[in-house]
Amino acid sequence: MIELSTSRILILGAGYGGLVTATRLQKGLNYNEAEVTLVNKYDYHYLTTWLHEPAAGTSHHERAKVDLNEVLDTKKINFVQGTVESIEPDNKKVKLEDGTELAFDYLVIGLGSEPETFGIEGLKEHAFSIRTIDSVRMIKEHIEYMFSRFNNEPDRRDYLTFVVGGAGFTGIEFVGELADRIPELCREFDVDPNLVRIINIEAAPTALPGFDPELVEYAMDVLKRKGVEFLINTPIKECTPDGVILANGEEIKAGTVIWTGGVRGNHIVEESGIDVMRGRVKVDEYLRAPGYEDIFVVGDCSLIINEETDRPYPPTAQIATQQGFNCAENLIALIRGGELKPFKPELKGTLASLGRGEAIGVIGNKKLLGSSAAIMKKLSDLRYLFILGGISLALKKAKF
Ligand SMILES: Cc1cc2nc3c(=O)[nH]c(=O)nc-3n(C[C@H](O)[C@H](O)[C@H](O)COP(=O)(O)OP(=O)(O)OC[C@H]3O[C@@H](n4cnc5c(N)ncnc54)[C@H](O)[C@@H]3O)c2cc1C
Repeated sequence: MIELSTSRILILGAGYGGLVTATRLQKGLNYNEAEVTLVNKYDYHYLTTWLHEPAAGTSHHERAKVDLNEVLDTKKINFVQGTVESIEPDNKKVKLEDGTELAFDYLVIGLGSEPETFGIEGLKEHAFSIRTIDSVRMIKEHIEYMFSRFNNEPDRRDYLTFVVGGAGFTGIEFVGELADRIPELCREFDVDPNLVRIINIEAAPTALPGFDPELVEYAMDVLKRKGVEFLINTPIKECTPDGVILANGEEIKAGTVIWTGGVRGNHIVEESGIDVMRGRVKVDEYLRAPGYEDIFVVGDCSLIINEETDRPYPPTAQIATQQGFNCAENLIALIRGGELKPFKPELKGTLASLGRGEAIGVIGNKKLLGSSAAIMKKLSDLRYLFILGGISLALKKAKF
């Protein structure tokens, strides 16, 4: 058991929520004011919001990685590379897969999300999902492998069929990138582009449910022009090794199925005994888990209700980042005996990329589409990098 001195703040996960909490604590705390430990599976942070690009192969996965060394001051933050196995909220300890036990006075859970399969048979086993650097590296390799297999088995048109389940943000952003990559793959593998199919399947009555209908129409037009086929209002019943079976019984044979249909909180939180709704913890106004004044939950593992709509806010990097700021501020207040500040999301807007130079979005009340939305998206990425690692990180990773 690793013993930490008081006040011991333990942060699980170096994603948007966890890493922003850590870097804000690093900035706000004096040396030795608290012992802060950050645990993460990898020694890097990944820009989840960029992962559709390396998944399609339109940018290198290294670009979406930020070395934790570059943003952490190890004199203020202990970094432990390890995989969390379990959380014991009542014993105030966390176990890692390698047997290490970490005790805490305050815990911040920021372990992110997992794919929500809604009970669709075979999805877990046969579909890819865009989640981590490891997963997108595999998707990119698999896409290329399908092209090379087709060259050797030219009667297998299904190798060139790519099914993307879910036309929410991730699905739309991914099909935009994949459509951009296809011409290059066709040249590289001597394949007729007319043989390639990208089919985006959505169970809801519209793509990008909840988004402005005019922008949805624009997005679908752009993507259709790039060759994406849409099956909207079309639930998937089953995923098999050969493709998908729709609720109407039709089978679509595909060498690749990528599921982007939704997320739920990390199973470790669910198994910890903390109350969850679809794996997410309905936190109080200070982001604390119900019944635990010393456990904060940030990012996709947390659930907060939008009082205007009476529905949960969707899990986004934007909210996770803001929660990181609030959580760090409140931890500093707790250590110094100050007042806690309630968390209120400030929604600055939503932007979805449609591939090279194209995007849609809403900033404040203003609708954006085309290149102006794509520029805004790049600026919002830049802003996040600046928050994380200042101007040097922003310039290093900027995608202009
Ligand atoms: C392709 C794609 C595009 C997106 N685009 C946008 C967008 O444009 N705008 C937006 O606001 N949101 C977007 N999102 C959603 C956004 O990425 C998430 O809401 C955000 O990443 C959540 O942050 P988080 O801190 O909760 O978790 P994450 O950023 O997922 O981080 C979780 C961290 O926990 C670590 N971890 C997980 N399990 C363990 C374990 N057992 N042990 C140790 N470490 C562990 C992971 O390695 C990771 O570092 C997108 C998501 C995807 C997939």
